[in-house]
Amino acid sequence: EESTSRTTKKKLVAVVGGGLVGSLNACFFAKRGFDVEVFEIREDIRKAKVVRGRSINLALSHRGRQALKHVGIEEKIVSQGIPMQARMIHSLNGKQYPIPYGRKGQYILSVDRANLNKQLLTEADSYPNTKLNFDHKLQDWSTETGLMTFVRPDGSKVQIKADLIVGCDGAFSATRKQFLRRSRFNYSQTYIPHGYMELTMPPVNGEFAMKPNYLHIWPRNTFMMIALPNLDRTFTCTLFMPFEDFEKITTGDEVIKFFQKYFPDTIPLIGVDALKRDYFRLPAQAMVSVKCSPYHIDDKCVLMGDAAHAVVPFYGQGMNAGFEDCIVFDEMMEQFNEDFSAVLPEYSRVRVPDDHAIADLAMYNYIEMRAHVNSKWFLFRKHVDNLLHFLMPKTIIPLYTMVTFTRTRYHEAVQRWHWQNKVINRGLLMSVSGAVLGGSYLLIKSPPNITNLLIPGEKIWSRLTELRTS
Ligand code: FAD
Repeated sequence: EESTSRTTKKKLVAVVGGGLVGSLNACFFAKRGFDVEVFEIREDIRKAKVVRGRSINLALSHRGRQALKHVGIEEKIVSQGIPMQARMIHSLNGKQYPIPYGRKGQYILSVDRANLNKQLLTEADSYPNTKLNFDHKLQDWSTETGLMTFVRPDGSKVQIKADLIVGCDGAFSATRKQFLRRSRFNYSQTYIPHGYMELTMPPVNGEFAMKPNYLHIWPRNTFMMIALPNLDRTFTCTLFMPFEDFEKITTGDEVIKFFQKYFPDTIPLIGVDALKRDYFRLPAQAMVSVKCSPYHIDDKCVLMGDAAHAVVPFYGQGMNAGFEDCIVFDEMMEQFNEDFSAVLPEYSRVRVPDDHAIADLAMYNYIEMRAHVNSKWFLFRKHVDNLLHFLMPKTIIPLYTMVTFTRTRYHEAVQRWHWQNKVINRGLLMSVSGAVLGGSYLLIKSPPNITNLLIPGEKIWSRLTELRTS
């Protein structure tokens, strides 16, 4: 019997998946005093030589940090992250210009995925009431009895019953299979036409090859490349491009020709030989968006993280949203006295609209990042939004700020964004019409007199200052 070593009489919570969300969630449940068992298909990555998995680094922001703080490891993780205070846009002619993420001092962090996962596992392991089971692949579980069946690498099977099953087994969740067999379960999945490929940019003379405190972006409309800094002074560049374009490039020389046309500044930094070699090392990886509801079955099972909501990676929120799931669930455990039959339905009710909203936003940003940032209107609107936010910090908050630097519920952030857009666009339209009409009137009424033109500007400024201080 796997779980006879348990000493307390508390309920047993089985966390399926020891990835980012599963290992963090184990800490949340352990902190509440439950007996926790984590089941992970892979071997213990802390001992493995090569860790396979998705993206090498990720952007950690406020929501994720708040969750880490709950279990007391925010500082440890943050100290090993690299702050990125702005996007650095690389235009085709080699010019670079930054677009800040928020106010001065606001930044997102580039963190190493494998290291973060290892630290979370170690943290979960440090609770005496937690047990980590590696090389355990969930095969199936019963919604009637809660009995789970795991397969070991040697083909043997292990069966375990838990009071609560928490499915944190990622975008292709095995836990979710039982949900799909039930009536009134909504499910959709969409593969986008783009794939991604990671390339490494090594240090130059021991230093970062580009400015380290930025998320570098090469937006090229139908495709783009981004680069995030690593602690070892390399950058991980990720090329996002339609699969059909990836497939058009079949030789090393074609890779160089492609880079010369679209990313010429990166060729000397990544290196001709490395480009020719690494482009063919691994095929481009697919990206899927998964939406479903509800997230629970009775008082038995709940899905969190990518198992509940895999999102495309363009808002940098997948992990952050998954980490926030853990906080939201924990807050409800407090509110409903750890009564699973009350917490689980409430969790679905509250969390589904928010996770669906971030899935939609991520899809929207997929276009914004590769195309809109090239548009003058978009950049102008960013400046207007930032200026208004500076003048009226409580009334106008840029969408990116709400999503990345606050815990405003995702669906509320979207609603507020729509409202703000309406107000700002109307305001801009009115100022433009006002200026045109006013200007014509002044020109007709009196000969051009510079003071006439200056006074309204002053008035507007003092009104804005009033608003700012009110
Ligand atoms: P996973 O990380 O997928 O972990 C699932 C775990 O379950 C794995 O360890 C797996 O081995 C295990 N498992 C699977 N099946 C079974 C089974 N049957 N039995 C037992 N165990 C099982 N998010 C951000 O917040 N910021 C970013 O900048 C960002 N960038 C990204 C870039 C890319 C290219 C991609 C693809 C994603 C990015 N994300 C980002 C999203 C982020 O990677 C995910 O949201 C996050 O990994 C979700 O964590 P998870 O624990 O839910 O799932």
